[in-house]
Amino acid sequence: MGRKKYLFTPGPTPVPPQVLAALAEPVVHHRSPDFRTIYERCLARLREVCRTEQDVLLFTASGTGAFESAVANLVSPGEPHLVVSAGNFGERWASLATAYGAEVDHLRYAWGETPEPDDVRARLRERGAKAVWVVQSETSTGVVADVQALAAAAKEADALVVVDAVSSLGAVPCETDAWGLDVVVSGSQKALMTPPGLGLCAVSAAALGATGSSPRFYFDWERTRKAQVSLDAAFTPAVSLVAALDVALGLLLEEGLDAAFERHVRLGRAARAGAKAMGLELFSPDEDRSAVVTAIRSPDGIDAGDIVKALRERFDITIAGGQGELRGKIFRLGHIGWFDVFDIATMLAAVELVVSELGADIERGVAVTAALEAYEHSRVA
Ligand SMILES: *Cc1c(COP(=O)(O)O)cnc(C)c1O
Repeated sequence: MGRKKYLFTPGPTPVPPQVLAALAEPVVHHRSPDFRTIYERCLARLREVCRTEQDVLLFTASGTGAFESAVANLVSPGEPHLVVSAGNFGERWASLATAYGAEVDHLRYAWGETPEPDDVRARLRERGAKAVWVVQSETSTGVVADVQALAAAAKEADALVVVDAVSSLGAVPCETDAWGLDVVVSGSQKALMTPPGLGLCAVSAAALGATGSSPRFYFDWERTRKAQVSLDAAFTPAVSLVAALDVALGLLLEEGLDAAFERHVRLGRAARAGAKAMGLELFSPDEDRSAVVTAIRSPDGIDAGDIVKALRERFDITIAGGQGELRGKIFRLGHIGWFDVFDIATMLAAVELVVSELGADIERGVAVTAALEAYEHSRVA
């Protein structure tokens, strides 16, 4: 018998059975009423999840593709842009904007730091920018930034705000319209509980009116927007993934966004409580906002990659290691999307076994209890 596989990474994430079942439906034609009904409902649900009345453009692409659409549409060569980075994804966006010829002012923090709105203000006073590019949940470190405050700082200088919400949309609050976010980018395979393959971009009227001169075709916002308005996709979308995303968004909205945010806060608390109880040291901040991924320092003398490898080989449990400069130093437990507290218990129990076998001096038999208690006793006010 094939062993049960556990996917405990911050993307891709586990997909609920109802969503998988939608993928098994016969393929429909993208210009037929069968698809238009699904497309319309999916786009409406996306607006609800993004908390926006503006257009949400849907692309057959990964999150990076949707992000590239923002760069291709907003950046003109030689134009000043401020990119805020504190980890792998922020640095990716600095490179991407540079590739399109932007004059990038890179506000670069050490990996694991939390960006400060006052630093954004100071940079924008020194040199204006057409747009400020920020990451809401820096999945490589576990830090969730205060996007509302960062956006307010950008707005004071009349800059557009572009947010990477790939791992945060659906897990932590992202109030596109209320916070004045011009572009919110996400992908299907994180908290949206759908397989990889769809990227999305909520785009404000201001952003649509501020497009630049970079060459683009597939990712052209206006072409996509016009086609979506008439439910006549510009190109063949991944129809089965759209059908699956529609079901997943239905599940999320049925739970309720606020209830989902609360569940993620409690899952984060449970993961941190369990890790600390066995004596591990957190890398991600020990705060409620850090509800996407719990990053844990590998115990002295143990390469985090060996923990990841042992979990996979012994139990078919997949977690994430460190990226870039954090490779070998941290491991990351993802808990966005279709997760409950027993998933946290499973990951902690397995980490406990493997880490102690690798020779770490940790306390056995306490992590799961601590996690369950933190979850139960932490109803968010
Ligand atoms: C996963 C992720 C991405 C990249 O998404 P892809 O779908 O792999 O292109 C970008 N930003 C963040 C914060 C992510 O977690």
